[in-house]
Amino acid sequence: MQTKMLIGGAFETGNDKVERVLNPRTGELIVDIPEADLGQIERAVAAARAAFKSWSRTTPGERSAKLLEIADAVEAEAENLSQLEALNCGKPINGVRDDEIPAVADCFRFFAGAVRNMHGPVAGSYLKGFTSMVRRDPIGVVASISPWNYPIMMMAWKLAPALAGGNTVVMKPSEQTPLTALAFAKILSDILPEGVVNVIVGQGASVGNALINNDGVDLISITGDIATGKKVLTAAAKTVKRTHLELGGKAPVIVYDDADLQAVVDGLRAFGFYNAGQDCTAACRVYAGSKIYDRLVADLTGSAASIVFDNADDTLNEIPPLISQRQRDRVSSFVQRASELNHIEITTGGTNATGGGFYYAPTIVAGALQQDEIVQREVFGPVVSVTRFTEDDPVIDWANDSQYGLASSVWSGNIGRAMQTAAELQYGCTWINTHFMLANEMPHGGMKQSGYGKDMSMYALEDYTAVRHIMIAH
Ligand code: NAD
Repeated sequence: MQTKMLIGGAFETGNDKVERVLNPRTGELIVDIPEADLGQIERAVAAARAAFKSWSRTTPGERSAKLLEIADAVEAEAENLSQLEALNCGKPINGVRDDEIPAVADCFRFFAGAVRNMHGPVAGSYLKGFTSMVRRDPIGVVASISPWNYPIMMMAWKLAPALAGGNTVVMKPSEQTPLTALAFAKILSDILPEGVVNVIVGQGASVGNALINNDGVDLISITGDIATGKKVLTAAAKTVKRTHLELGGKAPVIVYDDADLQAVVDGLRAFGFYNAGQDCTAACRVYAGSKIYDRLVADLTGSAASIVFDNADDTLNEIPPLISQRQRDRVSSFVQRASELNHIEITTGGTNATGGGFYYAPTIVAGALQQDEIVQREVFGPVVSVTRFTEDDPVIDWANDSQYGLASSVWSGNIGRAMQTAAELQYGCTWINTHFMLANEMPHGGMKQSGYGKDMSMYALEDYTAVRHIMIAH
């Protein structure tokens, strides 16, 4: 197992305190990994800064070729990366192999093409006697910080547009899930020039904090909690760094009475519980029309109860455990507090699974009201709340009444009504009669306190490049 950090061209062990990396399926130790000390963080940033000079001057075509090589290498190493990700996150191996690794390779391929196809305003004489043109140039050293729910995919979402744009990177994965990032570092070091990507490990409060406060960093890209995003903004203010924030969600799912009930139930089973709900777009906050409500709760309860999740044969599992004991305690306490309200019924789940590991049973919280904590706060677990609405209730206002603004969905047989609802929702993404589907060509990112950074798509390439005006006197 590759457990060393990549700093410049060398692999080295961290010099600071040891982080225990656990297997969430069993709670057992996988490996101890020492975190970077201040000197190593400094050297990683310095290596990225030194590499920036030449990497930023490569052509889009040259960078594109490197990204295509990375995509091929990801596919060649797919089995090893899948096994590591499954081990470290407790994810069912089939999901990593079939969904995540192909998406990682495709992400690099998309940006390999995108960087050769950037568009902008035409050059022209906007003042008489002068010609103006716009350039999009690299920003500099990017500090990329990722969470534990999709470690290798988040790494791809951050690295591919940053590298395509001509930036160099210091990557810090979550301290809980560093294994695929470190394995990926080996792949990257074989393909990219020294210092273009550096990977360091450690906790947010120590290594993350030192990285975001480092004067050599030009852009901080983080996916994480709102509270962490605010710390990034405070750190960025000191030297006016750019920021790229992806900060969680609490996706509303509006189900009108004329929706296809079976499609809704199947969709919620898949997209409310995928990755055990540890997903910022999870379909976790359902608003069901009063005519469909009872059947939806009954069918969804049966469907959620049938999800396979703690089978000893991992190939049969549909969802993973939670990432840690702490996260399971957090999820459990949300459900416990909800269950103490008279109007709420836990129709299935609400318990830890027996045996080892951090499994939590898929849970439906029925009868939830708009102001309930379970409707307002991000649980980040396999918990779906259902709230009834009538024709008189302002359901779109309820859906928008959230500090989050990442993802949402509308389910209806009336496409006009669904489109009107989508137009009124304040979310970075609204799906109609589906949820959770992503395409590398399309942007993923939030509004409100979910942040404003866009992952995937041309918009990510814009986020990782600076617009510059060049004017020539005739
Ligand atoms: P987190 O904010 O605790 O940690 C995210 C990363 O930030 C980790 O690498 C962590 O070490 C680092 N970090 C923590 N404190 C830091 C600090 N003071 N300075 C610098 N870095 C610091 O989040 P998490 O618990 O790992 O992940 C779950 C959160 O991420 C949820 O809120 C979830 O919704 C969000 N998320 C958002 C998206 C999105 O696209 N918007 C995607 C996945 C996860």
